[in-house]
Amino acid sequence: METKEKIYLDYNATSPVGKKVAEVMAGIMAQPLNASSVHNYGREAKKHIEDARRKIAKIAGVEGAQVIFTGSGTEANNLAIKGFRDANTVEVSTIEHASVIKAAEDKKPTYIPVDKNGVVRLDALEGILKHTSGKVLVSVMLANNETGVIQPIKEVVKLVLAHGGFVHTDAVQAFGRIPVDFNDLNVDMMTISAHKIGGPQGIGALIIKKGLHLSPQILGGGQESGYRAGTHNVAAIVGFAAAAVYNSRLEGGNYSSHLRDYMEKKLKSIAQDITIFGEDVARIPNTSCIVMPGMKAETQLINFDLEGIAVSAGSACSSGKVEASHVLLAMGVDKEKAATAIRVSVGPETTREEIDRFVEVWKRQYERADIREAA
Ligand code: PLP
Repeated sequence: METKEKIYLDYNATSPVGKKVAEVMAGIMAQPLNASSVHNYGREAKKHIEDARRKIAKIAGVEGAQVIFTGSGTEANNLAIKGFRDANTVEVSTIEHASVIKAAEDKKPTYIPVDKNGVVRLDALEGILKHTSGKVLVSVMLANNETGVIQPIKEVVKLVLAHGGFVHTDAVQAFGRIPVDFNDLNVDMMTISAHKIGGPQGIGALIIKKGLHLSPQILGGGQESGYRAGTHNVAAIVGFAAAAVYNSRLEGGNYSSHLRDYMEKKLKSIAQDITIFGEDVARIPNTSCIVMPGMKAETQLINFDLEGIAVSAGSACSSGKVEASHVLLAMGVDKEKAATAIRVSVGPETTREEIDRFVEVWKRQYERADIREAA
């Protein structure tokens, strides 16, 4: 049997660690680096961590002291929602990642709806804020992981500030793909993660405004200025910074949308009845959430997989089980249609040839109307 080149189009789930990033990390991992040690190795560890912190801070437009390293984006979201001490109510959008939704559950949050394009409804937020007494923490993501839709964070901040509240944004899918400036967004807290942008898994950060009151969620040593205990993963921290720097130097600032747009154009010329969620609003440049009418996402995924092409359905962060996406349902998409949507997310290494092959396999499936109708 002819072996097909594997094609990876699931960068929003995770990305391959860049070659340079892996090299830098390997050099660090070969040494016994614990930043809490007083000896020479300890000082070296600290230097690596602080260099990395400065690099990430610079890209996000903040000072190093505002960057708290965590063990993942998930952990940073938990720290932001559970650890924030200055609010007594929480409001989160309906399309947040599970790590925000679940971290907020105990606080009985109010959910901010989105419109049919997956954009948070500012009118609804305004209405909710009017009926909220006391200090509020609002969490709205910067870009959605399934549709790529960019949220109007600056407008969210304006509304929340007028109410004397605070804003957290989950920028895991945005940071490294579009320019993200913490001060320009004017948020109080922002979550970022390394593994969507060519960095390693298991390292994230929460960026905070100076003087913010947060209770650590992981207790132990005094690492990260007391915000997050646990021996630093020096290699991962350095890898995170290297990946962030690499991305910030890509042509055009960050990712280019030309391959995603090229793919969508080709698909639309094949199928008039195609739906691409959020195509009329601002999206991060690498993501496309596509409906193939009548063909269940699970079936599509298997067919793509047989061709060596990796894409995903709904949120790939859960157990590998394909369920109707809460994001699409929140956008008012019916269950049947939501069950036919796949997510294609490209990376800086994706090639036009790979997109052409994806389109060819998509077309072949689309044209099997018999299978689609039976599905
Ligand atoms: N937030 C968003 C929007 C995500 O897409 C993800 C991961 O898919 C996370 C948070 C969690 O980040 P991590 O995988 O680093 O825990």
